Amino acid sequence: MRLSEPFAPSYYVDSAERAGGCARAPLHGEHEADVAVVGGGIAGCSAALHLAQRGYRVALIEAREIGYGASGRSGGQTIFGLATSQQSLIGQVGRDDARRLFQLSVEGLSLLQSLIGEHRIDCDYRPNHVHAAVKPRQVGELAAWERELRVEYGYDGVALLDRDQLRAHVTSDRYLAGLLDPRSGHLHPLKYTRGLSIAAESAGARIFENSQVLRYTAGAQPRVDCAAGVVRCKHLIFCGGAYLGPVAPKIARRILGVGTYIVATEPLAPERARALLPSNAAVADMNWILDYFRLSADHRLLFGGRVSYSAIEPRQLAVSMRKRLLQVFPSLGDVAVQRAWGGYLDITMSRAPNFGRLADNVYYLQGFSGHGLVLTALGGKLVAEAVAGTAERFDVFTRIPHRDFPGGALLRRPALMLAMLYYRLRDLF
Ligand SMILES: Cc1cc2nc3c(=O)[nH]c(=O)nc-3n(C[C@H](O)[C@H](O)[C@H](O)COP(=O)(O)OP(=O)(O)OC[C@H]3O[C@@H](n4cnc5c(N)ncnc54)[C@H](O)[C@@H]3O)c2cc1C
Repeated sequence: MRLSEPFAPSYYVDSAERAGGCARAPLHGEHEADVAVVGGGIAGCSAALHLAQRGYRVALIEAREIGYGASGRSGGQTIFGLATSQQSLIGQVGRDDARRLFQLSVEGLSLLQSLIGEHRIDCDYRPNHVHAAVKPRQVGELAAWERELRVEYGYDGVALLDRDQLRAHVTSDRYLAGLLDPRSGHLHPLKYTRGLSIAAESAGARIFENSQVLRYTAGAQPRVDCAAGVVRCKHLIFCGGAYLGPVAPKIARRILGVGTYIVATEPLAPERARALLPSNAAVADMNWILDYFRLSADHRLLFGGRVSYSAIEPRQLAVSMRKRLLQVFPSLGDVAVQRAWGGYLDITMSRAPNFGRLADNVYYLQGFSGHGLVLTALGGKLVAEAVAGTAERFDVFTRIPHRDFPGGALLRRPALMLAMLYYRLRDLF
């Protein structure tokens, strides 16, 4: 959505150099490829990389620049699981597929590590992640979750922390308990996305930037049209997330773009930063409209939260986010916020990801619902497997049932606002 907006200043844009050779030309004229990939976020770059590694001729077409969407703006938290709970997944797909989906998310954590290692992606990766309880009821929920992970899913290594133990990771009085996972962590998402795009190019993929796909035609030889060029291909993959817009209305109805926001403080003295988050863990609280935060490599606090359905003016945004940040770390009253930015999440009705096919040779990956950093790269790998003829793992995701947002184009946003109001109220108790 709003592909016309410029790539707003953010801590990520400031700190990820766009290497001179990295900007790519727009699509001009007629091109042929085995696979065309629409969208240069993590999902599209990962799909392009894994397909090129298999020997396919790949054309990746990005409307603005690589990482322009959610992938270059996110909180950078790399976390196991899906945005929806395992219990809810069991209700949707049954126990066996719910288990497979969980295991695939854990594979996603290892894939992320191996992509960073193999392609030497310098993206400030750090291990450790904490889910933190704000409300007394959430303490019990964390304990039940830890048991479920260990007993039902064999995901051991996570540690339940009481209030005192949690202070070794987050020195805030706001939290009552935590769940620490050393296999989850955090990274610089724009550096990671650009790193993946460079890896895809090194493997042979061609990347076109500033080339919005305006329409596509299905068939034995699908075709995508941009303003000044065309790609004909054998397989087509849509990875446009919340930004895809009207090109493929059938899948656009399954997701809603919801704005969420992050601020970056000025750099803190290293010891002051360490005093806030001694193990350098990323933290997400357990509320529906959650606060999430972590330190950057240069010791800033990156603090995210809020949701909205329209663009918020950055000054107002910085002020309101600062208030939230001070509720967590009141000692930062003298610290300035230097950057504030937002991006759009592609949420589904159930908050489970939405992978599928529009035709036998037209695939899509979307609906990561704010939990996409790990699953996007995995989705790219799975769709490459499917194109190559082995779709079992991709189809574990396609079996998740999805519904369109009710209310059509005009009413679905107000309907979601009402639903969000309900969850906002729930966060109060
Ligand atoms: C502020 C924020 C914080 C977040 N924090 C976290 C977090 O901490 N942890 C986590 O797991 N997830 C987080 N997420 C979610 C995560 O960032 C996304 O799930 C993930 O990046 C989605 O990647 P993607 O490749 O599917 O889509 P995107 O990164 O959105 O990429 C889609 C790309 O497609 C391009 N595009 C769209 N339409 C067209 C077209 N017609 N033609 C050509 N190109 C097109 C866009 O320009 C864009 O670059 C966050 C998201 C936001 C916005």
